[in-house]
Amino acid sequence: MTQQDQLHRFLFEKHAVRGELVTVSDTWREMLKGHDYPPAVKKLLAELLVSTSLMTATLKFEGDITVQLQGDGPLKMAVINGNHLQEMRGVARIEGDIADEATLHEMVGNGYMVITISPLQGERYQGVVGLEGDTLAACLEDYFMRSEQLPTRIFIRSDLQRSAPGAAGILLQVLPAQDSDREDFNHLATLTETIKTAELLDLPATDVMWRLYHEEEVTVYDPQPVIFRCTCSRERCGDVLKSLAADEVDQILAEDGKIDMHCDYCNSHYLFDAVDIAAIRNDAAPKDDQVH
Ligand SMILES: [Zn+2]
Repeated sequence: MTQQDQLHRFLFEKHAVRGELVTVSDTWREMLKGHDYPPAVKKLLAELLVSTSLMTATLKFEGDITVQLQGDGPLKMAVINGNHLQEMRGVARIEGDIADEATLHEMVGNGYMVITISPLQGERYQGVVGLEGDTLAACLEDYFMRSEQLPTRIFIRSDLQRSAPGAAGILLQVLPAQDSDREDFNHLATLTETIKTAELLDLPATDVMWRLYHEEEVTVYDPQPVIFRCTCSRERCGDVLKSLAADEVDQILAEDGKIDMHCDYCNSHYLFDAVDIAAIRNDAAPKDDQVH
């Protein structure tokens, strides 16, 4: 049974605690297409995808979030980029062998997480956090505590083995500037911790919430679909080509007859020949009516 990926926001009326529940199974499978990642990296990308979706949903403005892991281990880089429309994409770069059961730290080595928040309007914000926690969820909880002083718990479940591999997660967070009882928050976290992978992946969100929180007063808001979407385009590739040194571009054209721009996220290729390049340059040139 497959459901469309969805993000649900909810609120515990009596505890000043908010929550989010997200399923990203289709989005994740879509993201892995055309890539040949080791199982541990697939699982980490699932966790990163769940985390990014949950974080994107905490934004109070339109824009996007990029969550990137970098280090000196065999997993050089893993990144998820998502926006307020819950359009997600991601990619990983590997150099060397990664065991099936490799941990976060075995994969990333000495590394850190870079969180970049780019509002459509306003200043870009970048936060860097060391990977002190054992899991990605622990590292992000740490990030929320440091950057926003908000107690946060993140629960991630994924399963690669089943016929339709899936991933999902839940976030609990104390509302800003409200007195939430720490014991209440811990109680809600203890309840949430009991969710089983199959329950979270297969049950409708309302059933999951009933199963976990039937003794609580919970308001559940309209869900938002989560989808895989790459934002690459021929136009954007053209902009990149325009920004490169003309003689370098001409040299590739002379050698290969064309320029092949490849998107690492979705494996799209955009081909540009000499005529295309000339058109791009003409567009960039000053218009005739301008005075020199
Ligand atoms: Zn792309």
